[in-house]
Amino acid sequence: MNTDQTIVVIGAGIVGISTAIWLQRSGCKVIVVDRGKPGHDKGTSYGNGGIIVPSGVAPVTGPGMITKSPKMLLDPNFPLFLRWPYLPKLLPWLVKYLSNANATDTRRISKGLSVIVGDAVDQHKSLARGTPAEKWLADSDYCFAYADRAAFEADEFVFGLRRDAGQVPEVIEGDAVREYEPEMGASVTLLAVMKDHGYVRSPGKYVAALAEVFQSEGGEIRQVEVRDVDLSDGHITGIVTDQGRIACDAAVLATGVWSKPLAKKLGVNVPLESERGYHIVFKDPSMNLRSTYMMTGGKFVVTPMEAGIRCAGVVEFGGLDAPASEGPLKLLRRQVAQYFPQLEYSGTEEWMGHRPATSDSLPVIGELGQTGVFAGFGHHHIGLTGGPKTGRLIADLIMQGGSNIDLSPFDPKRFN
Ligand SMILES: Cc1cc2nc3c(=O)[nH]c(=O)nc-3n(C[C@H](O)[C@H](O)[C@H](O)COP(=O)(O)OP(=O)(O)OC[C@H]3O[C@@H](n4cnc5c(N)ncnc54)[C@H](O)[C@@H]3O)c2cc1C
Repeated sequence: MNTDQTIVVIGAGIVGISTAIWLQRSGCKVIVVDRGKPGHDKGTSYGNGGIIVPSGVAPVTGPGMITKSPKMLLDPNFPLFLRWPYLPKLLPWLVKYLSNANATDTRRISKGLSVIVGDAVDQHKSLARGTPAEKWLADSDYCFAYADRAAFEADEFVFGLRRDAGQVPEVIEGDAVREYEPEMGASVTLLAVMKDHGYVRSPGKYVAALAEVFQSEGGEIRQVEVRDVDLSDGHITGIVTDQGRIACDAAVLATGVWSKPLAKKLGVNVPLESERGYHIVFKDPSMNLRSTYMMTGGKFVVTPMEAGIRCAGVVEFGGLDAPASEGPLKLLRRQVAQYFPQLEYSGTEEWMGHRPATSDSLPVIGELGQTGVFAGFGHHHIGLTGGPKTGRLIADLIMQGGSNIDLSPFDPKRFN
């Protein structure tokens, strides 16, 4: 593309804003549109666990999941929930999703994910370097916390995937766990420590700060709702919004879990669902954590953030429209109390959001047909981590017509 052309990026979450910055740094005119302000609390980029996870190469679907999931659903202490009336709507997606729960597909997915997450810490730093957004980034270890060695060894398959991606943990056991992290409750006796990870001290404020960087470098942001895409001879000429038409030469669809209708209109039917997730922030916490943690027994992450300690996790299927459920939040509270019995705090903030979940756990990155609209959505559990890399890949696709990285795992056509 020529640098005198205009590109509209739809969606101001981490994926959209990162893409907009890299496109603009390539020299073209970029307009970002979103129905909310960048970093707003209905976007998934606001409420995530904040962890930048280069070792995030293991999808939720793994071998054995099909036989285990009915028991998980019925177990009140397992963080998998289903709003049963939603099941008929979920079923077609669920069948496709579970068809990947085997060793061969899991290894294939893992290789794809490693492209997006492998250099994530550097990607975030290079996006934010020398700007006010940099202050929200922190270096840290990321520790998988286990009750005992048997539980750790039961996860050998996923650590094998991580090892294949060059991510090898340092294992700490027994009293050494409390020497590493004095705040950790006694129910944890083993930590698998992944080095050179990172986190964001306030994901919402980070996205807002990156949006300001984009504006300060010449970009324009408009708060509008996108309703449609105008095509001429099958190629985009503009977007239709609730406040009128915006002409453009190309567009990026970075609307997270809300991407399905516009992608479908452009001829690509992506099996995309909401994996609802929750967080609780414990304000003015009595403890100071050294690192970020994945509490493997409860499958939630713990991150020391600006506003307090954020505990985030749970997978709930129930669609985009239903309000937050009580059950997941109660379970999260119970589990936090179990792992960190000494935690005191002045108050809490609760949140529910939507992970954009494709049926094969890989994001969709690439042009939708030959429409001039490029997809950048479907990042599941790793969108904060992979947003900046995705943005760079899309900028290369648009400005250079290709990438020297194999993007076939993310091909929008793969579902057709
Ligand atoms: C509980 C939880 C914990 C998580 N923890 C982590 C973690 O620790 N690390 C990690 O890497 N990832 C994590 N994730 C995943 C991560 O948050 C997501 O993958 C990521 O935020 C997706 O970003 P996005 O930019 O694609 O979507 P979003 O942030 O949702 O942005 C999409 C934007 O599109 C806008 N939009 C949609 N439709 C329209 C329209 N028609 N017109 C205008 N605007 C529109 C929305 O308003 C929104 O701002 C977690 C997710 C959850 C729910």
